[in-house]
Amino acid sequence: MYDYIDIHSHLNFSDYEKDFDQVIKRLKDTNTATITVGTDLVSSRKAVELAEQYENIYACIGLHPADNTGETFNEEEFEKLVTQKKVVAVGECGLDYKGFKIHDLRFKNEKEKQIELFKKQIELAIEYDKTLMLHLRSGENADAYDDALLILESYIVNHKSKLRGNCHFYAGNIEQAKKFIELGFTISFTGVVTFAKDYDEVIKFIPLDKMMSETDCPFVTPVPYRGGRNEPSYVQEVVKKIAEIRGEDFEFVKKTLSNNAVKYFGLK
Ligand SMILES: [Zn+2]
Repeated sequence: MYDYIDIHSHLNFSDYEKDFDQVIKRLKDTNTATITVGTDLVSSRKAVELAEQYENIYACIGLHPADNTGETFNEEEFEKLVTQKKVVAVGECGLDYKGFKIHDLRFKNEKEKQIELFKKQIELAIEYDKTLMLHLRSGENADAYDDALLILESYIVNHKSKLRGNCHFYAGNIEQAKKFIELGFTISFTGVVTFAKDYDEVIKFIPLDKMMSETDCPFVTPVPYRGGRNEPSYVQEVVKKIAEIRGEDFEFVKKTLSNNAVKYFGLK
């Protein structure tokens, strides 16, 4: 199978238009696969197109909680996409409280809107037996991780067997990580771990078989590529750093993280 799997990329963004072929060449040369993630209907369609075209690309389709706030969730169109071959997940979906303070007047409305959108995508994932790709970002005194846990737990009683997902770009604490793992969810880390120490403790805490690697490219380029555009083949820097932080053998970590992505997203 693949040496590395970048479980969250945006190769569907215009950042790659000019040199897409070279990006794909490096993806293949490093024996890396990636899940390209939609943030709205147009970018989700593009993710599906790329996945159909390239062996090493899989697709995740959904509507981001805060990226394209003018778009409402088109259930019919997303249902068409979710059944396409190589669509392995629904998202990125979740809660994004960045820029909001808990007592903001706007916050209550915004939160309700985001929760409604999130629930639609949880239900789509359950119905079509897909993994959720969660995007959670807290604001000042407004914790997106705690709120997401409450929402997800409300689906457990009726849907435990099908409810599953991954917390992308994990920025929660150890207690919350524990709760997500108890729910059967996994957690992934980006290139941020190569230049910030904030995640070291949680990386040591989470069992390796519940963890995955990602780039979230074109954002958060890892060391030693800081300053340039990020891409999926750089995910090996994230894997190296995770092994270093945990004090575990690199080959073992590499293999486990790749196997995890195959298992949790059902990659074929
Ligand atoms: Zn993303």
